[in-house]
Amino acid sequence: MSTPIVRFAPSPTGRLHVGNVRTALMNALFAQAEQGTFILRIDDTDLERSTAEFEQGIKDDLSWLGVTWGRTFKQSERFGMYDAAAAKLKADGLLYACYETSDELDRQRKLLRVAGKPPVYNRAALELTDEQKSAYEAEGRTPHWRFKLSGGTVTWTDMVRGDQTIDMSSLSDPVLIRGDGSYLYTLPSVVDDIEAKITHVIRGEDHVTNSGAQIEIFRALSDHLPQFAHTPLLVGADGKSLSKRLGSLSMLELREQGIEPMSIASLLAKIGTSDSVEIRHSLEALASEFSFDKIGRAPARFDERDLTALNAKLLHETHYDAVADRVPGDAAFWNIVRANIEKISDVDDWADIVLKPMAGEIAEEDKDFCHAAADFLPDTVLPETWSELIGYLKTETGRKGKGLFMPLRLALTAQAHGPSMDDMLVLLGAEKAKARLHGETA
Ligand code: GLU
Repeated sequence: MSTPIVRFAPSPTGRLHVGNVRTALMNALFAQAEQGTFILRIDDTDLERSTAEFEQGIKDDLSWLGVTWGRTFKQSERFGMYDAAAAKLKADGLLYACYETSDELDRQRKLLRVAGKPPVYNRAALELTDEQKSAYEAEGRTPHWRFKLSGGTVTWTDMVRGDQTIDMSSLSDPVLIRGDGSYLYTLPSVVDDIEAKITHVIRGEDHVTNSGAQIEIFRALSDHLPQFAHTPLLVGADGKSLSKRLGSLSMLELREQGIEPMSIASLLAKIGTSDSVEIRHSLEALASEFSFDKIGRAPARFDERDLTALNAKLLHETHYDAVADRVPGDAAFWNIVRANIEKISDVDDWADIVLKPMAGEIAEEDKDFCHAAADFLPDTVLPETWSELIGYLKTETGRKGKGLFMPLRLALTAQAHGPSMDDMLVLLGAEKAKARLHGETA
């Protein structure tokens, strides 16, 4: 295979969400696995809805995930190329002017449906004479432009879906240019894929039918034709579409919730594949395991609970050096508390308990017991001190199990759960531990 050139082509009309990030990752991981090039194309032909802020937001989100691009460009800077391609198609009789209003088209579709026929455009505009066209224009109508499909079949071997056949006669000729002169995504995308020599178009399966039309446009414009890979869409844990919930599943939102980039990347790269969902610590690791053959045909289930669990797993395995600038305390503190957090900000709660002055919780009936514990503690606590303390108190008081250790944990940390007390006692140090066991703020 020649070196792949792929592209991720978001529209800057919103922030990235788990759905389009999955497409971005599939492109990025494939490119990385094959030492190819990843292009970031900004699909901003919709000048009304596209904003510079969203474009920047998309770039920030990708960078945060660790996805880098070898080249980036915006469609809004390339109208000259699209106009030239449109002119060629017009000259070849493949792009034709239509004057129907949307009401007229609606009516036609309804009539076809009532007659039990598929609502395919009737190509009446192909029969218009120059006089009729001039008459429409004199009426103030501006044409929209449709691409003339072959009416035959288009076939390709999809890298995910296998052999595909689309019966083009069942489709309406697609509108490539609207009445106001603006481009729909279909033509600019093909023109850009030809110019950038894209070798693989990797995108969601909602584009399968578009691919039929786009393949015919590729053939009309050049000898270049990429391969296609259409990945199944994401659904929620309940099997239902995520479309209504995508706002809350934006990278921005998940990042604010404390989800780490590799938790998201690991989940999105593995769901819907034959690999099990496990944490990976780098995109390189995910890339080395990437294969289109592993992607199944069924929708990929995205469950936020998996994301939280993976995030906790990732943090439990994360070395101090990787988080040193984001957490309070030192390596010893991190190594002890990391197993008790789900997101990095949870570290702050443990920092408050270990590093800041506070009083623990001591029930009236446990006061003497805690005093005895304080008196037993040596001036320097070691990892074995906790078990020595427990052994001593067990013999002295006859307490056992929870009644033995829980009053101490509560007195020292004010929490019923947490890191092992052997470690916590060392982190707190003798002075603080004694004071807290005496009921003081320390
Ligand atoms: N901007 C298009 C979209 O987001 C790109 C589709 C494609 O990858 O061709 O749907």
